[in-house]
Amino acid sequence: MHFYLPTRIYSERDSVKKHGNEWASLGRKALIVTGKSSAENGALADVTEALEHQGTKYFVFDETQQNPSVEHVLKIREKGIEQQADFVIGVGGGSPMDAAKAVALMLAHADRGAEYLYEKNIAGEKDYDAALPVVEVPTTCGTGSEVTPYAILTRHDACIKASLPHKIYPAYALVDGKYLMGTKREIIVNTAVDTLGHFMESYINTNATDFSRMLCEYGLGVWRSAKNILIGAGITVQDCDTMMFASTLAGMAIAHTGTALPHGLSYYLTYEKGVPHGKAVGYFLPGYLAASGPMIRKKVLSLAGFPDIQYFTAFIHRLLEPDDVSEELVAKAVRGLMSNESKLRNVPFAVTEPLLYQICRSGFGAVIS
Ligand code: NAP
Ligand code: FE
Repeated sequence: MHFYLPTRIYSERDSVKKHGNEWASLGRKALIVTGKSSAENGALADVTEALEHQGTKYFVFDETQQNPSVEHVLKIREKGIEQQADFVIGVGGGSPMDAAKAVALMLAHADRGAEYLYEKNIAGEKDYDAALPVVEVPTTCGTGSEVTPYAILTRHDACIKASLPHKIYPAYALVDGKYLMGTKREIIVNTAVDTLGHFMESYINTNATDFSRMLCEYGLGVWRSAKNILIGAGITVQDCDTMMFASTLAGMAIAHTGTALPHGLSYYLTYEKGVPHGKAVGYFLPGYLAASGPMIRKKVLSLAGFPDIQYFTAFIHRLLEPDDVSEELVAKAVRGLMSNESKLRNVPFAVTEPLLYQICRSGFGAVIS
């Protein structure tokens, strides 16, 4: 049994400014990868203030796409080359954080083109791949990308979203719940559901060990303690800290185990219909739990604070406004998943096409057109 996580994590109020003397001097010039709204909650201001304090130059790219594509990553890399950046800072949700990792990889391989991103060239079971140092500052409470080695990009060549085969661990994760305050409830709900998915898919996973289970068992309790904000309770800064912490713990768990069926199926919804990531994952969680063994299902539900699967399904349906999903899209997702060996390997029960249809139907059966 092993656990590998080389990211230095600071999870506390003002973590960005408090530890600027460490992370802000990782290089001479930083490329900051962020999005228009992600930059507006104080995170970008804290990052640039810390860089200026250390006398480190920076360039801000604030037009990162949601669900960034391969082409978009190459466009950001051009900025990095032009600016002679020697480290990369992702500020925002999973989209800018994943883009920052992919850009850092491509800046370290500036002679290579798009094909390198999905080249399975990882020497043996290497723990990480060569990339410029990455600092991540999350502003949503969902992906945990600040502590995972994964970067998920949109591949228009394959009409899907897919995780890079490279492992790019951030050097620093600077976590602070204050960046969530003022965020639209919908973003908090979707991303907190992503966190729940990470815990559930990590716990019910062939790669789970005592280390990852420990993170899920403790982390689900943390998630549970703030889950009422998802169904309308007022959101305090303490709730934001709690959900942000849960998100990081869930990221640590999936950094070890990977995700499973709900994530694999979700990418089709996001690619074809633009459904936000956490929401797309949420649809498939009740079905994934229903398909798993009764003992583990009971355990996970109880850790997350749900008395039974019916209650959980109703909770998810209450949170997630249904999208209109066609039979054709469901069939595409099922076919795609059946040939996705890396996701299937993580599932600790036999996966068949009928089972996948069942999981899809239990998520949005009523609205399949
Ligand atoms: P996101 O796509 O990064 O952001 C969603 C929306 O939230 C955007 O409109 C963004 O605005 C806005 N936003 C972000 N922070 C905000 C804040 N504090 N206040 C107001 N608005 C804010 O969403 P996400 O769910 O965090 O990330 C999804 C991506 O992460 C997907 O590509 C998914 O595949 C990936 N993911 C990665 C991992 C991993 O381990 N690497 C795990 C799970 C998911 P702007 O765009 O204007 O900034
Ligand atoms: Fe996710």
